[in-house]
Amino acid sequence: MKSLVKEHIEKIKSGKISLDEFISEIKKKIEKIQSEYSPFITIKIENPEKKGKLYGIPISVKDNICTQGIQSTAGSKILEGYVPPFDATCVKKVKGQGSVIIGKTAQDEFGFGSFSVNSFVIPKNPWDKTRVCGGSSGGAACLTALADFPHIAMAESTGGSISCPAAFCGVVGITPTYGRVSRFGLIDYANSLDKIGTIGKTVYDTALLLSVISGYDTLDSTSLEVRDEDFTKYCEENSKIKIAVPKEYFGEGVDPKIKDLVWKAIKKLESLGAKYQEVSLSQTTYALPSYYLIAMAEASTNLAKFCGMRYGFHSELKGNFEEYFSQIRKLGFGEEAKRRIILGTYARMAGFRDAYYLKALKVRSLVIQDFRRIFKKFDVIAAPTMPVIAPRFDEVKKLEPIEAYMMDVLTAAPNLAGIPMISLPCGFVKSLPVGLHLMADHLQEKKIIQAAHTFEVNE
Ligand code: GLN
Repeated sequence: MKSLVKEHIEKIKSGKISLDEFISEIKKKIEKIQSEYSPFITIKIENPEKKGKLYGIPISVKDNICTQGIQSTAGSKILEGYVPPFDATCVKKVKGQGSVIIGKTAQDEFGFGSFSVNSFVIPKNPWDKTRVCGGSSGGAACLTALADFPHIAMAESTGGSISCPAAFCGVVGITPTYGRVSRFGLIDYANSLDKIGTIGKTVYDTALLLSVISGYDTLDSTSLEVRDEDFTKYCEENSKIKIAVPKEYFGEGVDPKIKDLVWKAIKKLESLGAKYQEVSLSQTTYALPSYYLIAMAEASTNLAKFCGMRYGFHSELKGNFEEYFSQIRKLGFGEEAKRRIILGTYARMAGFRDAYYLKALKVRSLVIQDFRRIFKKFDVIAAPTMPVIAPRFDEVKKLEPIEAYMMDVLTAAPNLAGIPMISLPCGFVKSLPVGLHLMADHLQEKKIIQAAHTFEVNE
């Protein structure tokens, strides 16, 4: 697929199109998309103040990333009306390169979900409106698939929130190594897991935005001190890729038609020179429960600050602080947020801490070791991104919480390990897109980009 972004940058540079005309044209398109599919929580189109690498490129921002002067709710009613007085580091960086910020995209409340239905704005799947977009960055992936103009989305993943919607909507999503992109200005879900990344129509687009937003930041103590990289230079064909195919990722719960398509993609890479071997990642089954324990424990502490005093939603001051605090949280948080506060608090309580939270941290180390062992011999791991195609809204409604959590069975482990991953389209089942998931060792974004580009240009 041609990169509209690349073409657009050249046209703007050479003066072939006027930025003002372009902006008024996309305004109409964005409104039309919004009226049919609701990918945005807030639409606000801002003209660029500077020129740079992204001059004139529309960028959407997930609603949990703070944007100065634009409401940022993280998909939660408790933050309705919160307008940050500052930009997140990644937003500052894209503005500094001349991008056109177009608004804030819909998501599950604070990132809690895999379908983007746990919120007050629910985006619809671009391929079938009766189906979900995936979550939690559902709006970002939905808009990316529907935009027939150059656009890249800034998204975020804690346990699969970039890969899942990218797979369900048929677009490309990169989740970088934990610490590669500054989290300063991100409304936290789980600090040790949150990663800001990118969603685009092509591998090039996602790599371009990642190059701009990554880099060390003194404002984030977990930001990695590594040199800046231009990831677009890895959009090159590589015929010598060594691929590991973990058998645990092709288990019974995965739709056989999805498995077939992913195998077809691996064989395609083989025909282009790659070598593959089946391997075992024995800790995979423990990754999901350990991910949910850690994510909920961290989330429950992060949500303590939302008490109706400082940010967003307020109510009439009545009763003592406890009463006011409880009333605000009762009205402001959705059902899933409340569930996670209770479960997360329980896992951290004295007496239970060792049995749950600390044990989950130990499993996390084992999951990392499992991946490290594989990456000593292989460049990338290939697997399906999601075990199913995008479900219908009525199917999602019937799921028990545990069944919903099980959807992340293939994305939890790499997110828990903090390794980089990319999801890219590899075909269709029942006219709905399927994602191929490629993962690499920490800071080896180069390898997933090369492998994904090699597949993309030969598809
Ligand atoms: N579905 C997972 C969760 O609910 C992951 C979501 C995310 O990455 N924010 O925690």
